[in-house]
Amino acid sequence: MTDLVRLALACGARKAALLAGDRVVLNEEFRKICENGGCGNYGRCHTCPPYIGPIGELMARVRSFESAMLYQSICPIADCFDFEGMMEAGAFHAQISRRIGRALSDRGKEYLHLSGGGCHLCPVCAQKEGLPCRHPDEALLPLEGYGVDVYRTAQATDLAYQNGIDTVTFFGLVLYRE
Ligand code: SF4
Repeated sequence: MTDLVRLALACGARKAALLAGDRVVLNEEFRKICENGGCGNYGRCHTCPPYIGPIGELMARVRSFESAMLYQSICPIADCFDFEGMMEAGAFHAQISRRIGRALSDRGKEYLHLSGGGCHLCPVCAQKEGLPCRHPDEALLPLEGYGVDVYRTAQATDLAYQNGIDTVTFFGLVLYRE
């Protein structure tokens, strides 16, 4: 098991796997999903579009890294209508991502860390109040906002995109240079 995979598991991820940076599948169409209100956070969070910049620049940044580590959390929910359970699963995943982010920043190397499910750090994002981000060092950047096609990227690994009925799976991605 590699060092980064071990780190992700120690931070609470259920599974993690390495892949070459060019196996990360990108698609600028994801920005349209954001703009059309896919998750409802467009223009409502500092780390979401349009505030994070043009999709072309963000995808170029992803491509500037030669290696990647994909990780996932898997949580049980009551059923597919369990909105509260899904929100709790998203908050749980954000906790794992934040632990990973802190562990990475202690290493003093350059990483690009993207996560799914939204920032979730503040009960109400400061953007909605017209204020600067309260925790810029801990805010989570969005996978889809950077154009990452998680479903097709996961196919390059042994991480399943779905993990059974009545579960919800979230992903995170760490990009790095060897
Ligand atoms: S840390 Fe708080 S203010 Fe900053 S992007 Fe996340 S939710 Fe918004």
